[in-house]
Amino acid sequence: MKVVKIIQWDMGHRVLNHRSVCKGLHGHRYRAEICFKGNLVAEEGSSEEGMVVDFSDIKKLALSLIQDKLDHGFMVWDKDEELMEFFRSSEGHKPVFVPFTPTAENVAKFIFDQLDGKLQDIYGTGLQLHSVKLWETPSSCAIFTRKML
Ligand SMILES: [Zn+2]
Repeated sequence: MKVVKIIQWDMGHRVLNHRSVCKGLHGHRYRAEICFKGNLVAEEGSSEEGMVVDFSDIKKLALSLIQDKLDHGFMVWDKDEELMEFFRSSEGHKPVFVPFTPTAENVAKFIFDQLDGKLQDIYGTGLQLHSVKLWETPSSCAIFTRKML
């Protein structure tokens, strides 16, 4: 069984080497669909009986690890010298420095890595993060899914 929790935030970025408008500074209303998978909790009388995981547990995690850190922030590739210099010498902004160019694909993987392993499988149901679908615009998204072993 899979369950999905959605979070949204506003964030700026640019794709430095892009051939067109994505090279300029701009922002998006990002939306992440965070999917966990596992068997249903069978423990009678437990708060999570009949669930994969409590939605509020995913929400708490996603708010603290993703939304609080990224909302009204500006994601900056640490190889983007012009922006690194700007954010080093300017205050009042919320830069998020990352070691990758902030495409939807890379941000989806970044979110997956931030969340992966953060919810414990306390009932032994095989609970784990399955995928992150990141919407950069209402019609464009990237999906990062755990590699099958
Ligand atoms: Zn963009």
